[in-house]
Amino acid sequence: SAVRSEAAQTNIKVIVRVRPHNEKELQDNFKTVVKIIDDRMLVFDPKEEENPFFYRGVVQKGRDLLKKQNKELQFVFDKVFDMSTSNLDVFEGSTKELITSLLDGYNCSVFAYGATGAGKTHTMLGKEGDPGITYRTMAELFAEMELQKDAKGFNLGVSYLEIYNENVQDLLHKVGPLHLREDGRAGVVVAGLKIISIHNADELLSLLAKGNKNRTQHATDANQESSRSHAVFQVYINISSKIDGQVKHVKLSMIDLAGSERASATGCKGARFKEGANINKSLLALGNCINNLADGIKHIPYRDSKLTRLLKDSLGGNCQTVMIANISPSSASFEDTYNTLRYANRAKKI
Ligand code: ADP
Ligand code: MG
Repeated sequence: SAVRSEAAQTNIKVIVRVRPHNEKELQDNFKTVVKIIDDRMLVFDPKEEENPFFYRGVVQKGRDLLKKQNKELQFVFDKVFDMSTSNLDVFEGSTKELITSLLDGYNCSVFAYGATGAGKTHTMLGKEGDPGITYRTMAELFAEMELQKDAKGFNLGVSYLEIYNENVQDLLHKVGPLHLREDGRAGVVVAGLKIISIHNADELLSLLAKGNKNRTQHATDANQESSRSHAVFQVYINISSKIDGQVKHVKLSMIDLAGSERASATGCKGARFKEGANINKSLLALGNCINNLADGIKHIPYRDSKLTRLLKDSLGGNCQTVMIANISPSSASFEDTYNTLRYANRAKKI
């Protein structure tokens, strides 16, 4: 029996992005298991459209008996981006609208969720010549601050950290593990974290590049570039009104989450097991917090992981949250896609 709050203000948008097939999926003739119906609906593991009794003109006797039933699961999200969607389209349909809330004084968080290889980093960081939504959001934020400068003064700083094995590490400044503190007025504070003042979005690119070089990456059987850490980019803005002198502190967090694949699926054993368990712990805690917020349940288990403790002042309340679930369209990632869609579905507001 859950306690529901009267006025659940929580604003959570759940978005799914399907990446294109990669070379290997194309070469090996994997099936497509995600069918996009429209910009809000998709079907996972749809029934095949061809006549099931014929294969290359030959009657396939008993084929239906041997074949596993398709799941044919229909999902509806706030938005579904198909494989032809660019990072610019994703930005315009996801984080662009956060900027107004942010400059009005509300904390915002953006998550890229999904299995390794599903497109999280492509969405958040992009690549040279095609920046991801982090850069695009910051460029828009600077443009909007410029427009509002007659009425408000702005002071902006950024930090970039990772959570690896439930340890917080500064990506811009190599120091020991950092500790989280709760400061009544300032909210959650990472003691000793370097906050760098920047003046335009281009200054950000070199900072992100530097931070990414410092990320902990371990090869696993599943993917050479597997990432087992959560990369958390945060922007702190002091907004002072030139009319009444009032000052507001707001925070934008953009997080490239660790791969959501289960440890068992990546052949992790022994030493890797603790890592896997911890990653599941943070993702599970995040899922539980978001589910409870979306369902209007009062108890939010922020304390269950480092990630949720860090984001305690940026989830819930009047905060705006965007969850971008990244998936592969290929049967090669059937289980990962299925699990990601279910995680995203649970995050929806009811
Ligand atoms: P993740 O960070 O989730 O492990 P990546 O973002 O690194 O996954 O994506 C895996 C590979 O697929 C990369 O080579 C990336 O460039 C490519 N990729 C991912 N999403 C897209 C997309 N929407 N369009 C084109 N290439 C993509
Ligand atoms: Mg990545």
